[in-house]
Amino acid sequence: MKFEAFANKVWLATPTMHGNELTYITEALDTNWVSTEGANLERVERLVTEKIGCKYAVPLSCGTAALHLAVKLAGVKPGDTVFCSDMTFDATVNAIVYEHAEPVFVDSEYDTWNMDPKALEKAFELYPKTKAVVVVNLYGTPAKYDEISAIAEKYGAVVIEDAAESFGAIYKGRQTGNFGTYNVISFNGNKIITGSSGGMLLTEDREAADKARKWSTQSRENAPWYQHKELGYNYRMSNIIAGVVCGQMPYLEEHIARKKAIYERYREGFKDLPVTMNPYDRETMQPNFWLSCLLIDESAMCEQIRGDTESRYQTAPGKTCPDEILELLAKYNVQGRPIWKPMHLQPLYEKQPFVTVSGNMRDAEAPEEMTDVGADLFQRGLCLPSDIKMTPEQQDKIIEMVKYCFE
Ligand SMILES: *Cc1c(COP(=O)(O)O)cnc(C)c1O
Repeated sequence: MKFEAFANKVWLATPTMHGNELTYITEALDTNWVSTEGANLERVERLVTEKIGCKYAVPLSCGTAALHLAVKLAGVKPGDTVFCSDMTFDATVNAIVYEHAEPVFVDSEYDTWNMDPKALEKAFELYPKTKAVVVVNLYGTPAKYDEISAIAEKYGAVVIEDAAESFGAIYKGRQTGNFGTYNVISFNGNKIITGSSGGMLLTEDREAADKARKWSTQSRENAPWYQHKELGYNYRMSNIIAGVVCGQMPYLEEHIARKKAIYERYREGFKDLPVTMNPYDRETMQPNFWLSCLLIDESAMCEQIRGDTESRYQTAPGKTCPDEILELLAKYNVQGRPIWKPMHLQPLYEKQPFVTVSGNMRDAEAPEEMTDVGADLFQRGLCLPSDIKMTPEQQDKIIEMVKYCFE
């Protein structure tokens, strides 16, 4: 063996606690506010609205619940088409399907790996009546909201920003979580800060925030008994979870700085390899660098064939592929991950339209060879361990392991 396996596993991204979370949890226990009400929930609302610079932040059980309520608030009805970033975690799409709407996937761009404004324009040409666009900030990098919002506005569609991965990231001087009419953040265990779980719906609209609160508490009407006029959900955040988030909030900027240092160390370490890192526009974007990712140049890719659940590859001198790198890392106790498998390639969504810059790929008349940026990023890309507890020495060894794959 060329390398020595790490005694302790190096993870992709895990929670990093600082100790003061316990103060808030203890307060909740000492005062018996072990419920979905309490001081920590009020604090979280205040801390997050102040950080993001938005008016309302509704605490919920998870980011997926927040996305579901955002889709409802956008007025999406069964059978409506909803545009959605193709390259994402499937929670983004599931929220659309919970409302029995039809997701239409919009291809990614190479500039940011996010929704391509040109493909979005194309999607509106094909489906001009679409009422909502769900845009993801992939791996903590903001999408191009100037372009995206202008197009959505032209067609009278509502933007929902899925900022689950990008809490703390900035686009043109403003925090992500501000660019949709309804926006979502997540405190899932692997995110930039965590509550162990939890999420929030962010908006400037008081009425929308009130509706989300009501829906999240089983749509209980204001009456002496349990009175219900609308379908409701049990989507509230607990005061204990909120306590963990309260303890984490003061460390958000520190986490981002450490994530950025990890990204820069990889970039420097890989500068002589035929690879690029997940890109962003330095003029307009300050990502939170949630995950550092690699994209292998086309010319340095060995053959890699992925089936539904397994992969085969053929190594060649000077060439490698994501699955070879991931296998090698796993062997030495390091966790990496393929790029999110695009939604248009998921068996669950194989019937849904997929719009690239040149049209709907599912169209019977679509040309055989269409640009499919999402499939290409999935084929050549991987997520590197980005845990902020990883030491520079550990990271340097991981860089050596990746380099070795190119020998
Ligand atoms: C994590 C994540 C979500 C879901 O958040 P949960 O709090 O885990 O429900 C949604 N969208 C994206 C892009 C995510 O990465």
